[in-house]
Amino acid sequence: MTYKAEQDRYDKMTYNRSGRSGLRLPAISLGLWHNFGGINVLENQRAMARRAFDLGITHFDLANNYGPPPGSAEENFGTLLKQDLAPYRDELIISTKAGYYMWPGPYGEWGSKKNLVASLNQSLKRMGLDYVDIFYHHRPDPNTPLEETMSALDLIVRQGKALYVGLSNYSAEQTREASRILKSLGTPCLIHQPKYNMIDRWVENGLLDVLDEEGIGSIAFSPLHAGILTDRYLNGIAADSRAAGPSVFLNENAITEDVIAKVRQLDELADSRGQKLSQMALAWVLRGGRVTSALIGASKVSQIEDAVGALAVPDFTGEELALIDAIIKG
Ligand code: NDP
Repeated sequence: MTYKAEQDRYDKMTYNRSGRSGLRLPAISLGLWHNFGGINVLENQRAMARRAFDLGITHFDLANNYGPPPGSAEENFGTLLKQDLAPYRDELIISTKAGYYMWPGPYGEWGSKKNLVASLNQSLKRMGLDYVDIFYHHRPDPNTPLEETMSALDLIVRQGKALYVGLSNYSAEQTREASRILKSLGTPCLIHQPKYNMIDRWVENGLLDVLDEEGIGSIAFSPLHAGILTDRYLNGIAADSRAAGPSVFLNENAITEDVIAKVRQLDELADSRGQKLSQMALAWVLRGGRVTSALIGASKVSQIEDAVGALAVPDFTGEELALIDAIIKG
């Protein structure tokens, strides 16, 4: 059936400005790293993309290599755009990235101008787009001068193939230097995409300060620690969960008794606040307004609904934040 977006889709979402840019992003964004590949059912992907947009999630995050197989998430998203979302293109913020291995030979990964330009051309073709809204360098390249990688990002914007540029997985120091170069080129960095959640807090050791100083926004990936910071694993490892699947980043070994004991305590705290643990985890990442958007993944529509529900809860008290720290530290 032809898709028609909900009329009230902008009533339920909060939009936060990305750094000192003109762009506002939804507090919850949807990433297509998992569950949108060629191995997944397209109709479930369609249902999730539609529901997300209906709930005010205007931002969809991709990368050249998302799948599996690599590239298939962009192809599937291209299909969903063509069939459902194309009339809403000007209401969407679509991002993609290059930097991880994508094709054989010396130009298929890392940070050369050759890799970034060729990869984005491939991504645009797969998605059937003229431009993406945000193009990221996916990981720092120790062997390519930062000037070359940043000038490739600048070139891509000047070519009209991306509106804004971002960095992912760059350290605080690398981000400061990259930002300096990008500003000198006239293409300031819009946003940084780091991993950040209650368990993995590396961004608090300098990166968030650099982002504040430089006027760069932040979008936290894996805010649910790939599903660990939810009720997903409280009663064992379900066959349809990420830990039971082929992911090389999360497997059954990560779901230890120690981890689950902490998750259970966090779940009780969330319950006392009148929310699910997944919602408390997202509210935690967004607390205090330092993070522009929490970038979730989802395997079902209900998980996207849960995520948007996180915005409806009261702020944390100091006691609650201290309790979370104590539980995590164990
Ligand atoms: P999350 O930490 O949000 O984990 C998502 C997973 O958590 C879902 O697939 C689901 O697992 C589970 N989940 C979500 N909501 C619920 C819920 N309400 N109840 C129970 N379980 C839930 O993020 P991801 O690790 O998926 O990463 C999100 C996005 O971040 C990616 O799609 C990508 O866009 C980006 N990313 C970027 C990286 C980078 O280097 N720049 C690296 C990694 C991610 P299940 O499948 O078991 O149902």
